[in-house]
Amino acid sequence: MFDKIKYFWTMLILLSVGAWAEGGSADPELVTDGWHSHVISSGDSLSHIFQQYNVSAATLAALLRNPAIAQHLARIRPGQIVHLLKDQQQDLIQLILVRSTRESLRIQAQQPSGFTVVVDKKPVTTRIASAVGVIQSSLFLDGQRAGLSDAKIMELADLFRWDIDFALDLRSGDQFRLVYEEQVLEGRKWRDGPILAAEFIHRGERYHAFRYQDSQGDIAYYNAQGYNKKRSFIRSPIPLARVSSGFSKRRWHPVLQRWRSHKGVDYAAPTGTPIKATGKGKVRFVGWKKGYGRTVIVQHGREYQTLYAHLSRFVAKLQVGQRVAQSEVIGYVGQSGLATGPHLHYEFRVNGAHRNPLTIKLPRALRLKTQQLAAFRRQITPLSDQLAHLEPAVVVAKQTSYQADY
Ligand SMILES: [Zn+2]
Repeated sequence: MFDKIKYFWTMLILLSVGAWAEGGSADPELVTDGWHSHVISSGDSLSHIFQQYNVSAATLAALLRNPAIAQHLARIRPGQIVHLLKDQQQDLIQLILVRSTRESLRIQAQQPSGFTVVVDKKPVTTRIASAVGVIQSSLFLDGQRAGLSDAKIMELADLFRWDIDFALDLRSGDQFRLVYEEQVLEGRKWRDGPILAAEFIHRGERYHAFRYQDSQGDIAYYNAQGYNKKRSFIRSPIPLARVSSGFSKRRWHPVLQRWRSHKGVDYAAPTGTPIKATGKGKVRFVGWKKGYGRTVIVQHGREYQTLYAHLSRFVAKLQVGQRVAQSEVIGYVGQSGLATGPHLHYEFRVNGAHRNPLTIKLPRALRLKTQQLAAFRRQITPLSDQLAHLEPAVVVAKQTSYQADY
């Protein structure tokens, strides 16, 4: 895996240098003879690289005497490329450090013995891209066919995670449309920017997500009515964990050996599995609580409390009064207190009363304040139009030409 990543980076950077040299105007000399190029690997140091290419230690010392240069060169990283140009006396004329596709450092000898440095940062512009697809096999395959990167597909799925269960629920013929930003470097796509608007048609039902920055500067996604796409609570503190014991008025307690109610849900998971706070809130209790063992209680607004018990440990420095974000890890599964094996005991309380976390109707997402709704609507109108005009190239029935058209 590591080798693969390293290979990927090396290729990426080699390609980027290729593209740069090809770009021409800035550095025609890069493709001429006399240059030595070296891909920095982990463990490399500048002095080793200089030795390898017969650049004197005195030159390195002269470079490092310039504080700006010293500062830049202290930050060389594996995968970056050093290009060295020397004259016939083996003196360094120029050093170019390609830091990324976008940024490089150019160090130039200045007579009699100094050096100057310039950072070349290529401008990045933004353009709008769009994609549309019909589900035939899976969100991943059909997303890729629509030209989306895996990361973008994940982002799309995440936007609609409260509307659609992508693991179980997706139907052939469901459709997605999105408008997103792309960052452009030298006329070519450099990397993906954020999704601006998206629509998912699931079983004939249309779901939307629009990116919006509110007056406090917070960026979030909202549906067309201005409700935040994120709910106040996620359903489970351990996504994908198996429920080993449900909420019940009466059950046989394996440790106490008697009938009693089970006021929460148990999730079976190995010791050490991270436990997430299901909603944003304030830590109200952290510590040992009798049969519950190591326990965290989080208060969410005035009405709601969640409790997480039998932990093996808490995250470092967790303390009462601390704010936690939704999905922030607060501790790890264990079997402290009265427990026969490692699991999480999770409770959901509304105004002090225990409720079944698996079936309770979770509170609706927050809506934009009235005074922001007008601005929100103005912003999403053109995006809605744009989404509406995206049509899959081929209707679902003509499956034969589907692949070719995407
Ligand atoms: Zn339990």
